[in-house]
Amino acid sequence: MSALSELYEEIALCQLCEIAKYRTKAVPGEGPENADIMFIGEAPGWHEDQQGRPFVGPAGQYLDQLLAFIGLKREQVYITNVVKTRPTGNRDPLPSEILNCRNWLKHQIEIIRPKMIVTLGRYSMAEFFPGKSISKIHGTAQKRDDIIYYAMYHPAAALHQQSLRQAIEADMLKIPAFLAEAKNMAETEPQPQQLSMFGD
Ligand code: URA
Repeated sequence: MSALSELYEEIALCQLCEIAKYRTKAVPGEGPENADIMFIGEAPGWHEDQQGRPFVGPAGQYLDQLLAFIGLKREQVYITNVVKTRPTGNRDPLPSEILNCRNWLKHQIEIIRPKMIVTLGRYSMAEFFPGKSISKIHGTAQKRDDIIYYAMYHPAAALHQQSLRQAIEADMLKIPAFLAEAKNMAETEPQPQQLSMFGD
C-alpha cells in the first residue's frame, strides 16, 4: 500500500473533531504521489462529502476549467483541503478543526514533495502566509525550502464575483512560468516567517 493510501485510511478513521460524527466520507485529497503542483482549498462541501473527493461540486468544475487554461487535467495535479471533513452546514472551518487537520496536510506535503503549493482562498493562504491579506498577495510567489508557495483566490468566490474571476484566471495563467522557474528562483529576502504548519 502506498504512503498516501495509508494516510487516507488514517484520515478516514480520525475522530478528533465533532464534525467527524456527521460526515458521509472523509475527503483526504487526490492526485499522483509525484505531482509537481499541490492545490489546497478550504474544506469539503456537500458534494465532496458525498463522494469523498475534493473539489467535485461547482467550485471544482471551475477549478477544472482553470486547470485547462494552462493545459492541465486534474489527474495531473494533487488536490486537497486544509480540513478533510465537511464542516456542518457548510460553515467556515473552526480554528480547532484546522489545527487538528494540520498534521495530515503536513504529511501529504512530505510524501508528495510538490514543487509548487497553490493555496485557494483565505484559510489555505493563512497556513502558509500567516498575517497576509489575500487581496494583496494573490498572484505572488515565495520560494522556501525548494517549494514555491503561491496564493490564489478561492474558485467558489471567483465564480460569483466578476473582479475576482478576472484575478483568479490571470493568476492561474502565471503558474506555468513559476513552475518552470522553480529551480532558479532566488530565495525570497528577508526570510519569511516560519510556516505556522511547520512551527512549534
Ligand atoms: N471548496 C473547497 O475549499 N474544497 C472543496 O473540496 C470544495 C469546495
